[in-house]
Amino acid sequence: MKVAWIGLGSNQGDCRAVLRRASALLARLPNTQLRAVSPIYQTAPWGNTDQPDFLNAVAKIATDLSPRDLLEALLDIELQLGRERVGPRWGPRLIDLDLLVYEGANLDEPDLTVPHPRMHQRAFVLVPLADLSPDLLVEGQGRVSALLEALDVAELEAVRPAQDLPSCASFDFKRSDQ
Ligand code: AMP
Repeated sequence: MKVAWIGLGSNQGDCRAVLRRASALLARLPNTQLRAVSPIYQTAPWGNTDQPDFLNAVAKIATDLSPRDLLEALLDIELQLGRERVGPRWGPRLIDLDLLVYEGANLDEPDLTVPHPRMHQRAFVLVPLADLSPDLLVEGQGRVSALLEALDVAELEAVRPAQDLPSCASFDFKRSDQ
């Protein structure tokens, strides 16, 4: 089996429940074991900032699926959870699943790049990933702990632990600084 790390994000509906369901569906993929899920973080949106905060987490799995089959499975889980592929890039989304790292894979194909090419810039990926695997060496990017240290303080401050928050549907999404 190969180990892979999946980024999970949601900023619509009951996000906490959506992340929980996504993790449960990952655990049920064929020839796949869910090894760990990070704590959940609340994150100010990236790219298009005029939208609700996200909840983000990272899951670690072991799988016999190939990177491509795994990507197909992730897209299928997004659809099962009700994601519609409409709207702007970086816009609001019910669920977003990214294949971050797949042990031994270094792919640059039109519809599949692994490791995920922008993960080293994103605190909402690196913070939960560092909870699970700080020593992971991301091919072509560096070690997770070093990538995290290289981030802007502003990027890091946009990511806060969400343990104490109620599910997203019932808390006020507006950030305190807006
Ligand atoms: P988005 O939903 O905006 O994250 O984009 C998803 C699309 O990005 C998918 O249809 C994939 O074909 C493509 N893609 C390329 N590399 C990856 C990756 N490592 N993880 C997830 N999606 C990827």
